[in-house]
Amino acid sequence: MATTTAVSSTKISGGSFLLEERRTDEVFTPEDFTEQHQLIGQTAEEFAVHEILPNVEKMEHKDFSITRNLLKKAGELGLSSAEIPEAYGGLEMDKVTAAVIADHIAKYAGFATTWGGHTGIGTLPIVYFGTEEQRKKYLPRLAAAEIVGAYALSEASSGSDALNCRARAVLSPDGKHYVLNGEKMWITNAGFADLYTVFAKVDGEKFTAFLVERTFPGFSVGAEEHKMGIRGSSTCPIILNDCKVPAENVLGEIGKGHVIAFNILNVGRFKLGAMCVGGARVSLENAISYAKQRKAFGKVIADFGLVREKLANMAVGVYTGEALVYRTVGMMDVALAEVDKAGADAAKETRKAIEEYAVECSIIKVWGSEMVDYVVDETVQIYGGYGFVEEYPAERAYRDARINRIFEGTNEINRLIITGFLLKRAMSGQLPLMPAIKKLMDEVLSGPLLSEDLEGPLVEERKLVTSAKKLGLFAAGAATQKYMQAIQDQQEIMGAIADMVIETYAMESAVLRAQKIAEDSGEAAAELPIAMTRVYLSQAMEKIEAAAKKVIAAVADGDMLRTQLAILRRLAKHEPFNTIELRQRIAQKVIERGKYALV
Ligand SMILES: Cc1cc2nc3c(=O)[nH]c(=O)nc-3n(C[C@H](O)[C@H](O)[C@H](O)COP(=O)(O)OP(=O)(O)OC[C@H]3O[C@@H](n4cnc5c(N)ncnc54)[C@H](O)[C@@H]3O)c2cc1C
Repeated sequence: MATTTAVSSTKISGGSFLLEERRTDEVFTPEDFTEQHQLIGQTAEEFAVHEILPNVEKMEHKDFSITRNLLKKAGELGLSSAEIPEAYGGLEMDKVTAAVIADHIAKYAGFATTWGGHTGIGTLPIVYFGTEEQRKKYLPRLAAAEIVGAYALSEASSGSDALNCRARAVLSPDGKHYVLNGEKMWITNAGFADLYTVFAKVDGEKFTAFLVERTFPGFSVGAEEHKMGIRGSSTCPIILNDCKVPAENVLGEIGKGHVIAFNILNVGRFKLGAMCVGGARVSLENAISYAKQRKAFGKVIADFGLVREKLANMAVGVYTGEALVYRTVGMMDVALAEVDKAGADAAKETRKAIEEYAVECSIIKVWGSEMVDYVVDETVQIYGGYGFVEEYPAERAYRDARINRIFEGTNEINRLIITGFLLKRAMSGQLPLMPAIKKLMDEVLSGPLLSEDLEGPLVEERKLVTSAKKLGLFAAGAATQKYMQAIQDQQEIMGAIADMVIETYAMESAVLRAQKIAEDSGEAAAELPIAMTRVYLSQAMEKIEAAAKKVIAAVADGDMLRTQLAILRRLAKHEPFNTIELRQRIAQKVIERGKYALV
């Protein structure tokens, strides 16, 4: 545990991980948590165990009086205001803290969704876009959870395509009110929230956000949806029937609602990733404890190789997820430290500092939601028939996890964001992707690749990360050469490039974490992290190679295809790790400890 943040204060550009080597002192890992991070983590953990978990059944049956009470208690403990400035009653903590809280609150997904809806999309629009009056009026009460927030963007006919909304707003003749009409759908917390950020088009054209109180005339809430999972959260439509909203409740600028909509979702994604990691850790622990007591063929099932393999993979998921999430929020905190908190543009600069890492936040969202789905699925498998019935925790976790791939931008939309954002930066020269691709093309065409001269721990692993980056650049280069700007219309290629980018960032994050542990605490302490890193690298390299092959086969044929495939094989060449032995070792450790723990 560190007493101060053990990372350099060098600001790192978003997306630059594809082109630059990172040093271990440039990445934040859970091993760098300060005493304060540990303390707030402990508070959130105790709150989850002693307050949330005993009330799960009531919340599953939609007793939202319990939910509101818990939100208030979380507010009193400082678990709901980490991202609200002190001047408005918040704690104004760093983003690592926000992620630590999300990670622990995720012990029960139903409440975590409520809490995330309130503290994230329900509150942050006012933090980042509110006027002084709006902040003063609403933030202190949101910080204390005296009022609950919600965010109403989606409609029945427009979710991903949210800018195409039908809700309308017209200014009243006396200029005092906007009159809103329309219906919003799938609104988290809608059943009991007090304040809603609602998006509607002024005069049918200008997409705009409004702060709408539940008590405003013409506002009503529809019936609860009957959901597959996160049943402990409220999801309802809201109905705007000549709803009168005071003109001073316009949030941000008329016609600039898209800036709010996209920024807020972006900000929310890293916390969703942290919750996925927290949820996966809980599932893994349930799976370990079940596997240790369930017997078959005269043995506990934790003794079977195929069960151990699953437990090891789940632990690898949690380890890599932690590395990804905390590395990203650590980068944000370095960038945010440069913002003049007392300056007039503090909110805008904060937003910009976070937006810099839009690619990384989308990666965390996609990767985390797919990792937790794998973990809860294998947990059901380990529970066997008992995994399929409601009395055991595996069933609910399986249902609860599924939504993460759908909300906060579906994973398809986020994959398009990842590649699209990188290409946009490359085209504008902000990220020197094109020169890097050209350099790599020249290098691979001029003969055998030179092996890197690396020193220190995990040399082979770091070389693999370099190979992954080259494979991604090579495939992206081949695709952009063929399609130029029109690549944006080739969704399958954009998706495959996103997959390579996602895996590369995850691989590098896993390696840097293990390397940092090895450098700071010695190779013995790093034994388990290194084993997990190797397993992760093995599976990620397979995915990257497959995605690169898919892209190359789509953009080349004949002799060109054969040449490019030969280059691809050269770039992907590596000696495989003995993943059976590695997974055995990882499984042995988590089974012995009865939980996920690195030390
Ligand atoms: C439990 C729950 C809570 C929610 N909470 C909120 C909330 O608090 N506030 C809020 O505003 N919304 C909320 N939502 C809505 C959620 O954000 C949307 O459901 C989501 O954005 C997807 O929109 P959609 O359902 O209209 O699906 P669609 O947009 O119709 O998508 C359907 C499928 O098509 C794919 N697709 C769509 N467009 C493209 C494209 N351009 N390229 C490739 N594939 C594409 C999608 O990836 C998806 O697989 C919630 C939803 C649920 C279920």
